[in-house]
Formats: sequence, structure tokens, C-alpha cells
Amino acid sequence: MTKVENVVIIGGGVAGLSASIYTARANLHPVLISGSPYGGQLMLTSYVENYPGFESILGSELIEKMRKQARKFGTKIIDENIISANLKKSPFSLSTSKEKFLTKSVIISTGAKVIWLGIESEQKLIGKGISSCATCDAFFFKNKIVAVVGGGDSAMEEALVLTKFASKVYIIHRRDKFRASQIMQNRVKNNPKIEIILNSEVVEVIGKERVEAVKIKSLNSNLESLNSAQSSKLKTQNLPVDGLFVAIGHRPDTDVFKDQLELDTKGYIKTSAVKAIEIAKLKSGNVEKYDFDYPTMTSIMGVFAAGDCVDHEYRQAGTASGTGIQAALDVEKWLGIIA
Ligand code: NAP
Repeated sequence: MTKVENVVIIGGGVAGLSASIYTARANLHPVLISGSPYGGQLMLTSYVENYPGFESILGSELIEKMRKQARKFGTKIIDENIISANLKKSPFSLSTSKEKFLTKSVIISTGAKVIWLGIESEQKLIGKGISSCATCDAFFFKNKIVAVVGGGDSAMEEALVLTKFASKVYIIHRRDKFRASQIMQNRVKNNPKIEIILNSEVVEVIGKERVEAVKIKSLNSNLESLNSAQSSKLKTQNLPVDGLFVAIGHRPDTDVFKDQLELDTKGYIKTSAVKAIEIAKLKSGNVEKYDFDYPTMTSIMGVFAAGDCVDHEYRQAGTASGTGIQAALDVEKWLGIIA
């Protein structure tokens, strides 16, 4: 018979590893199905300088330290992906391509992936002038020229953060209107360091070792009337920049749970904390299936979620770690109640 675990944690980024350390130290013998490749978004960044306690550390090194710490206290780490989950009845069942697990509780910390532009030249310069997090990397662009791609709140926020360090910030957006909230748009438009380039897309990032420029293509339909030689000259230009911040959205890794848990329209998992904010905003709604004593509990009792698969606002290693710890403490309390 398959053993029933106390807790299985799905996702081995900062949130899942923090939850592992806490549940392991609580003697719950957690199993961490960390995903393959493991480690989440920190494995894609270079130096992290804003994780408390580390003035400067490689993202991958921080993950390795956390894995070592999680193992030291008794976490069983399995570098596989969950391919199916049945959360409809307890004990919950989770399967990788090799093994099946039964468990009394689950912490989902599968994270979110940055949506990149998807152009070839982008991939080789990520971490070498291309970033998706101004809060993390703006500091490296003191007195430099940078560009942000996107027209949502994230792009506005990234641009505003960058103005504290960079000498000039371009925002490049593919349409003639931003989708960001009016207040963020106003802040951007009133900032003298920001120049907005509309109806344009980045088609190439230029630079061998680091970003040197971006090639932007104008999508303005007025240019269509020109002959092809004239229009191709006007349609593309090289904009010299030292950095490029891509802020066109994130995609949470929650597909495997989508028919079982309550998710928002973009696929982020709703927890009691998220639901409480939603309800406070609407001052109504169905609260029955959420237990507000457990901020990290999802729409299924015994299933908890933490990190970037829940949070599309803060998205920091520190906040992911914090919610991972909250989930661990909620699980500990929950297992005490159902024991
Ligand atoms: P978003 O609202 O989905 O905006 C994504 C932007 O990227 C859009 O302007 C979109 O253009 C553009 N885009 C998408 N794919 C693109 C591509 N392939 N090439 C070029 N441009 C592309 O995403 P977000 O800005 O990350 O925000 C996500 C959620 O978090 C939103 O609900 C937002 O309000 C919230 N948020 C709030 C704050 C805040 O209040 N402080 C801060 C950050 C995020 P189109 O407009 O043409 O579709």
C-alpha cells in the first residue's frame, strides 16, 4: 500500500524550499517534488542583491544553499514534475512519470514563468542586460539608458523604478494606448526621464556580450502607403540602450490543477488571503469554501498555495519565501487539527 505523507510540496523554487525547511523542522517529513529543471526563476537570474542576509549571491547558489538546508532537516527532494493530481478527495494523490504519492496536505508553489518576447537574440542576453525585474536589477543601470517593453501596470512600474537609477528610460509599446491603470500612466507621462515609443515592437536585441541596442520596428499603418524601400528604412531603427526590461506579463504554472482549484482568469491560484481581499473590495461573494483561519489555504481544505503561482503583484524572492513559510505554518496547524 502507498504510504500517506503528511505534506507534499510541489515546486522547488524559493517558496517551496522555504516551506520545506519549515515543515521539515516541524518534523513533518515533507516530500518536495521540485520540478525539472528545479529552482524556479532564481536559476535564470545572475546576482541577487536584495534577498535579506546576502549582499550579493548568484540566484543558483541561493537555491543550492536552500536545498542543502531543506535536506539537512529531513526533506526528501525529488527532481521530477507532477503530471497529474487528484485533489478531489483526501488523501490527495499526486503522480510524477515515475511515482505516485498520497498525502494529507499539499503546498503548491509551482511559480510563474516570465513571458519573454520570444526573439532569438533575447535568450542569449538574459542576465546580460536583459531582465524581467527592475526591483532586482535597476541598481545595475546607474546613469545608463534602458528600455522597457510592455503597456500594462508592470511596464509602468518597472519604468518608474528604473528612473531612480537610469539616466533615461524608454517605454516601447506595440499599440497606441497603454492598458495600465490611469494613475500609473499619469506618473509615467509626468516623469521627465521617460520617453514613450508607441506602435512599435522590439524585433532584435543587439550586442555580443551585453545589450548594446534594440532594433525596433514601427507598426504605424501610415507607413504602409510608402514603397517598400522607403518604408523598411522608416519602419526599423536601432535604439542604443544598455538594458532591456521585458514586462509583458507572467504565466503561472497551474495547468495541472485548473479543473480542481479555484483560479483567477489568468490562472493564479486563489487562497483565503486573496479571496478576503477580493471580498473586501466587492463587499459580497461566496466565502463558504474558504477558511480564513488559514490565509494560504486554497478552495480545497488541506491544499495550500504560496509564491508566484498566487502572487502577481510582489513577485520577489523574499515575498515568495515569506508566503512559503506561511503555508508551512498553516499546514502544521491544519495537520494538528485533523490528526
Ligand atoms: P498585463 O496587464 O497583461 O500587460 C501586458 C502588456 O504587455 C500589455 O500592454 C500587452 O500589450 C503587452 N504585451 C503582451 N504580449 C506582448 C508581446 N508579445 N510583445 C509586446 N508586448 C506584449 O500584464 P502586467 O502588466 O504584468 O500586469 C498583470 C496584472 O498585475 C494586471 O492585473 C496588473 O494590473 C497587475 N499589476 C498591478 C500593479 C500595480 O498596481 N502596482 C503592478 C504590476 C502589475 P497589449 O496592451 O497590446 O495587449
